[in-house]
Amino acid sequence: MSQQDDIEYQLDTLAIRTGHTRSFEGEHSEPIYLTSSFVYENAAEAAAKFSGAESGNIYSRFTNPTVAMFEKRLAALEGGERAVATSSGMAAIMAVAMSFLKTGDHVICSRAVFGSTVSLFEKYVVKFGVAVDFVDLTDLDAWKNAVRPETKLLFVESPSNPLAEIADIQALADLAHANDALLAIDNSFCTPILQQPLKLGADLVVYSATKYLDGQGRALGGAVVGNHKLLEEVFAYVRTTGPSMSPFNAWVFLKGLETLSLRMKAHSSSAQKIAEWLNTHPQVKKVYFAGLVDHIGHALAAKQQTGFGGIVAFEVKGERESAWKVIDNTKFISITGNLGDVKSTITHPATTTHGKLSAEAKLAAGIGEGLIRLSVGLEDVDDIIADIKRGLDLL
Ligand SMILES: *Cc1c(COP(=O)(O)O)cnc(C)c1O
Repeated sequence: MSQQDDIEYQLDTLAIRTGHTRSFEGEHSEPIYLTSSFVYENAAEAAAKFSGAESGNIYSRFTNPTVAMFEKRLAALEGGERAVATSSGMAAIMAVAMSFLKTGDHVICSRAVFGSTVSLFEKYVVKFGVAVDFVDLTDLDAWKNAVRPETKLLFVESPSNPLAEIADIQALADLAHANDALLAIDNSFCTPILQQPLKLGADLVVYSATKYLDGQGRALGGAVVGNHKLLEEVFAYVRTTGPSMSPFNAWVFLKGLETLSLRMKAHSSSAQKIAEWLNTHPQVKKVYFAGLVDHIGHALAAKQQTGFGGIVAFEVKGERESAWKVIDNTKFISITGNLGDVKSTITHPATTTHGKLSAEAKLAAGIGEGLIRLSVGLEDVDDIIADIKRGLDLL
């Protein structure tokens, strides 16, 4: 599609067509520009490009055509004005912190965020004299009480990992804006197909593209999405300090975006079936999946998401031994902490992703020894159920 089109395309069209610029060769698939720098016809053109008088590529730490295609496509899906790609999801979160926080500022972060996000704020961001508080993502009063005049950023991951708790994004956006603060949402679990935080009032959306945007476990990457004014700051930080996305990875993610909608719908539909089935198994104590009507976040998730995603957590009767038995008796589900892949993955959060937490912190986060997290892949859903049932029936 031409960038000049003023037609309003649907999400599935944007995912496949946005941002594609062809080289003079006329290739059909998006080209990978594996080049660190760009050359000019003459010194005057170089000078114009460097001064900004003329737009164009200079160096791939700043801009690269393949990376730009990915950025345009993701921004279009998210309904954002601009996206900046980064080398990983953590680099995207650090870019937000470094772009919008300074000494004396205060951040409120939901407690149940990705483990490295906690360390990023608690260990590194605090070094710059920024104070950080962690609160329960579902407790609006806790957010309100944590706000101080210096609060500049609210950071949330919703749904949470692994218990699928849901934050009220609109309410948090109102709270942030009443205090002249920004709201950033880590949307890696939902992707723009299932949730569009900017439309709910969030200012920034961050991604680990490593998860569902790729969807096939091939490449590390991340992105920040938002309006031109905010993203100019993020772009300046990334081009100066260097956590830029590689052109090859950008190409992988471009291909990932093309099938994202189909994949997210299939992940969600299989996860729903599996969650409902787990709910009926006598050895399962509790299932955590917002698509179940008895899940505490169901109504809110139904309001702000268009699907419930592919992550299902469940607690088996018994302790670690029972959970490990279920995991060890699978035949094809991958035992790994990664998620968002066409391949189903299974993990025991208490001894892997949340293994570093103290016993009290695990208790507070609801990470029991009997808890298992499943990232539902795109294998046949009955085969996935049979693979989990094998161990469950032995308990
Ligand atoms: C994986 C993940 C991250 C970190 O992303 P990387 O690409 O591994 O750096 C951040 N947030 C969430 C929700 C994640 O799942």
